[in-house]
Amino acid sequence: MSFSPTGNHSSQSIGIIGGMSWESTLLYYQAINEGIKQALGGLHSARIILNSLDFAAIETLQHAGDWKGAGTCMNQAAKSLERAGADFIVIATNTMHKVANETMQDINLPLLHIVDPTAEALSLAGHKKVALLGTGFTMSDQFYKGRMQAHYDFDVLVPNENDQAIVHKIIYEELCLGNIRSESRKAYLDIVNTLAEQGAEAVILGCTEITLLIDQSHTDIPLFDTTAIHAQAAVTKALS
Ligand code: GLU
Repeated sequence: MSFSPTGNHSSQSIGIIGGMSWESTLLYYQAINEGIKQALGGLHSARIILNSLDFAAIETLQHAGDWKGAGTCMNQAAKSLERAGADFIVIATNTMHKVANETMQDINLPLLHIVDPTAEALSLAGHKKVALLGTGFTMSDQFYKGRMQAHYDFDVLVPNENDQAIVHKIIYEELCLGNIRSESRKAYLDIVNTLAEQGAEAVILGCTEITLLIDQSHTDIPLFDTTAIHAQAAVTKALS
């Protein structure tokens, strides 16, 4: 049997814009490959084209409020994935979906938007009122909550300002550096409990590194891990 690098594929090629941070891109890479292996068996693995950006540069643009510059970087990354032969695009971070439209400008490929499979999983589980944890950008802006509300009719709660600052700081100063601390886990779980007391039926881990800190073994409140959900959706789409 001859090997063809371009033809006869059993799955589509997934174009990932990653590195934001690489700690979570690693989880995507593993989960997507495991999903493809489970579906196709044997030595099958995922066809992935990864453009892993330098997060220091992106984080500087984010905190400077230069979303136009961030969108331009993301668009260049998406274009490189299109040129390399990707069949669809995955932005492996919740926050950078803030510039999803700019990222996909003049790109003739579909984007697998992280909110869509997350919202579908929440709906399937019967939830209506949900809480969102993520970076300050994700929790305070409308790009995420707005899509959840307008497209899926969810009631989305976010932590109060003080708790948002705690969640944000831990993401950038610890989780994106691979630093997992039990004090920070306790802080997150306290915030999750407060949100549940306010009526949240489930909590979206709306930052791809939060799963490094808390998981379902730490609480009875249903957690929806966007990293795992988005990676599984990429597998399903790659096999479709
Ligand atoms: N990975 C994170 C997220 O899912 C935060 C890092 C970033 O700003 O992209 O939002």
